[in-house]
Amino acid sequence: MKIIVITGASSGIGSEAAKALHQAGHTVVLAARREDKVAELAASLGERAVAYGCDVTDYAAVSEVMKSVIARYGRLDVLVNNAGVGYFDKVADGKIEEWHNMIDVNVKGVLNCLHACLPHLITSRGHVVNLASIAAHHVFANSGIYCGTKHAVLAFSEAIRVELAGQLKVTTISPGAVNTPFVDSTTNAEMLNNYKEYFLTALDPVHIAAEIVRAVNAPEGVVISEVIIRPHRPVK
Ligand code: NAP
Repeated sequence: MKIIVITGASSGIGSEAAKALHQAGHTVVLAARREDKVAELAASLGERAVAYGCDVTDYAAVSEVMKSVIARYGRLDVLVNNAGVGYFDKVADGKIEEWHNMIDVNVKGVLNCLHACLPHLITSRGHVVNLASIAAHHVFANSGIYCGTKHAVLAFSEAIRVELAGQLKVTTISPGAVNTPFVDSTTNAEMLNNYKEYFLTALDPVHIAAEIVRAVNAPEGVVISEVIIRPHRPVK
């Protein structure tokens, strides 16, 4: 059974992935800024679950968590690089602090975790699971900067997949809209109003969690390199 770090495990896809991976018999290390949330989830899971308060934009803090994981378990098998944020807005109306935060969390945060984990993952012949998005493949109006961050995540995934083939498994998960608190970060009231209802009929995060488990549990000689999963909204 594997030792798995999951970032952004306090909510949405990350917390469902933590539950599903734990249910599949793995040891889960839950990280997020809201330490109380991850501690509560780890306590509810019981054995084989531990929680850390950690801001992925802080490389020193990320490194400390990874050091602590190695000291505790002796190895790291999987990184689920999931923490991310998005703000819907038109580029011309964009708020610079929101652009910076998306770059800091979705790009630098993903790189901070990757950099801190990679030596351990190469040693264990492990696995990186990066949460990208349909926004890594298409550019949509009202989420242009977010799309840019997810294009970057897909590029980093492809870089390590190509360079470390045979040493490390790499999976990129690219969901369409998922019904999580993700949309609530949007500060433009009109955009929030427009997107809120759309996200209510989006994918349930348990389906993304199931794909993460499928990728982590793929047989030794198999790597699921990308999963694209979209909501299926029947025509009324
Ligand atoms: P969510 O419910 O809002 O969860 C986001 C998670 O990221 C939270 O656990 C949050 O924890 C964590 N996070 C944010 N900033 C952080 C930071 N600086 N340091 C550490 N953790 C941080 O959203 P979600 O839908 O589950 O999103 C998870 C991932 O899926 C993201 O990468 C997102 O881009 C991607 N995705 C989402 C959708 C969607 O429609 N929902 C679609 C495609 C891809 P704390 O606040 O406790 O730190």
